[in-house]
Amino acid sequence: MAEPNSLKGKVAIVTGGSRGIGKAIAIELAKNGANVAVTYNSNLAKAEETAAEIRALGVECLMMQGDVAKKEDARRLVAATIEKFGQIDILINNAGITRDKTMKKMTDEDWEAVISVNLNGTYYCVQAAMPSMVEKKFGRIVNIASIVGETGAFGQSNYAASKGGIIAFTKSLALELAKDGITANVVAPGYTGTEMVGAMPQEVLDKICAKIPLRRLATPEEMAKAVVFLVRDADYITGFTLDVNGGLYMP
Ligand code: NDP
Repeated sequence: MAEPNSLKGKVAIVTGGSRGIGKAIAIELAKNGANVAVTYNSNLAKAEETAAEIRALGVECLMMQGDVAKKEDARRLVAATIEKFGQIDILINNAGITRDKTMKKMTDEDWEAVISVNLNGTYYCVQAAMPSMVEKKFGRIVNIASIVGETGAFGQSNYAASKGGIIAFTKSLALELAKDGITANVVAPGYTGTEMVGAMPQEVLDKICAKIPLRRLATPEEMAKAVVFLVRDADYITGFTLDVNGGLYMP
């Protein structure tokens, strides 16, 4: 059983932490005592609501706008976090988008948008945050992939490629950064009740739930607990993909 406040004194960045899974992760980190820098892209109202919820937990929250697909933005977000808190201990690359189309209908723009946010954004943030972690010889990186990055999915070749790329990227990071006291792991969510999934028609969701051994969608809080396990309790785990999918896919 973890001590309360066991992340006290630690500084975390959660990209796309203003709503959905990222918000639940930011809140769970805050509940464990970490100060949290949270990024959003366009929805300021949601971001402000989330920042207030985090501050109500008694920790500091820096809320920042930025598009992680733009390297200048990613670097600015990390630099602003270091300027405010002096360090980064935990990086959660959560920001992600979908542009679902079958390959016959896929445009270059659909492909590039998803790869840019999901995969390039993860790379830019790691690249920017790494020096602070290397300097302190401590870091916990968790990249949010997807079950689809392991199984593929009809109509999601761009998204599957981005998430599969994240898994392979993370394994490489784990190998390179272990000597600096930095672990890098993946949480691969299954279908989770957020706005991303809320956009799917109910009959499609019903069919998906019927195939999930646990017979329901995950909650964002269940993803957050898996992430916090990896950053707080899993000192000897690195390069690992933690599947949180209700048994839908067992590698
Ligand atoms: P949501 O769409 O609910 O939230 C996405 C978050 O990312 C928001 O905070 C959004 O900010 C932010 N964001 C979007 N684009 C950018 C960008 N270009 N730069 C910075 N931030 C951005 O997503 P979920 O919570 O559902 O998903 C979170 C992660 O989990 C994603 O990586 C997703 O691929 C993954 N995942 C989700 C699953 C699910 O079933 N929901 C299943 C498997 C994986 P803003 O509000 O300003 O737009």
